[in-house]
Order: sequence, then C-alpha cells, then structure tokens
Amino acid sequence: MSKKKIFKDIYEYVLSLFFPNRCIFCGQIIDPFGDICSECEEKLPWIKEDICHFCGAENKYCSCKKRHGHFYEKIISPLYYVDNVRDCVHNLKFNDERRNAEVFAKLMDRIRLTEYADVEFDFIAYIPMLKKQRRKRGYNQGELIAKKLSEISGIAFGKDLLVKLYETKTQHRCVHGFERFGNVLGAYDVNQDYDVRGKTILLVDDVKTTGATLNECAKMLLLNDAAAVYCLTATLTSREYIKKKEKEETA
Ligand SMILES: [Zn+2]
Ligand SMILES: [Zn+2]
Repeated sequence: MSKKKIFKDIYEYVLSLFFPNRCIFCGQIIDPFGDICSECEEKLPWIKEDICHFCGAENKYCSCKKRHGHFYEKIISPLYYVDNVRDCVHNLKFNDERRNAEVFAKLMDRIRLTEYADVEFDFIAYIPMLKKQRRKRGYNQGELIAKKLSEISGIAFGKDLLVKLYETKTQHRCVHGFERFGNVLGAYDVNQDYDVRGKTILLVDDVKTTGATLNECAKMLLLNDAAAVYCLTATLTSREYIKKKEKEETA
C-alpha cells in the first residue's frame, strides 16, 4: 500500500467521524470505506445473469426479442432503473450528489469484468451535452461516471470524444420509441481531435431507456471507422421488470 493511499484512508476515516458514510441507496450509516449497505447489496434490483445483450435486461425480462438492429455490439448495466436506484440517479443528475457517480462506476466495472471480460477497450466515451446545458448544470453526470470508470478500470478516458451538435427535445418528452430515434438523428458527432479508426469504444451513460441516443452515438463512431462499440450504463429501464414485480407483489 502506498503512503499516499494510507494518508487518504486516514483522512477519509477522520472525516467519517464527523460526516458518517452512508449507503447511497438507502441512507443507512455504513463503514467509512464501504459504498453500499449489506441489505442493499442483497435487495437492490440487480441485473445479474443470463442477460439479453440486445436490450440489457435479463432474458426473463427481455421485451426486445432481439428484434431491433442497432449499431452497438452489446449493452449491459448493473441495475434496473426503479425505486431507490432511480432516486440515486436523480440525485446525481439534479441534486449535485456527485459521489453517486463513483459508486455507480464501481458497480459498472464489476459487471464489465464479467460480461465484457474478453473485450479490450481503447477508450471510454460518454453521451455529451451541449456546452450551454453543461454550464447550466455545472457538470455532465455521464461524464462524471465515465471519468470514475476510467480511473477504476484503467481504460483511457475519452474526454469530449463525442460532441453534441444541436439541441434535441428531452428524450423522455418523446412519447414513442421511434420518435426518440428520430429526435437524436444527426445530433452527435465524433471529435476530430480523436482518431477512433480501429478502436474499440466503451460507451457510458447514466440510464438506458430506448437506447436511441446510445445507438446514434455508436453509429457516428462506426462511421468514423471505430472497430466496435459496447454500451455500459449505470441503470436500465425495463417495463417487463416493473410489470412482473408488480404482479409478484399483488399475488
Ligand atoms: Zn442501503
Ligand atoms: Zn432483449
């Protein structure tokens, strides 16, 4: 263990005496170096095994039936976007709770190491915002997650690798899936300071809904001769998951 790491640990420990470390999902006090309480570790809506790589949900909750063609190779995510998990993303996005980015990045790296074990990545990219949007919020949550993931995984951080060209309607305001795909068409490009030819890119975001934005960015990377694009998002929406859970609860 390096000296720097020891000092950092001591510093964090002392800090925790004044500001106790809390589980980001339920707020319970946990040990100073932990991220999640043991209860959440057990009960959170994890996406664990037997994953449909077309939509990212477990096969039992897959609704895509592998129908849609998309430009990325695969998509994975550690958690479904429900309950506490959804609140956590929301707090990261709108309430400046930036620590959540680090915890999500750790969970994302965990699933990357199992699901993408045999893929060598050259860059981590993220979904960009318009400069004026970013200025308004002060940060881009996807970028925060991507940066942390780069630190944890050792994969090069592609800062500003993708750029947003013009304003799009907020995706959740688009009612239909196809509308979402049309809404983002041509809205992104690859930063020409980067040479992505032959490169394998890990594309990161906070939530995957229809995957329209991820798909558009993957398309632009491939048009710039990237070898392959794999997606990894902190969370994933799944109507099937919600439907089946509701059924279980009322049964
Ligand atoms: Zn918890
Ligand atoms: Zn599927």
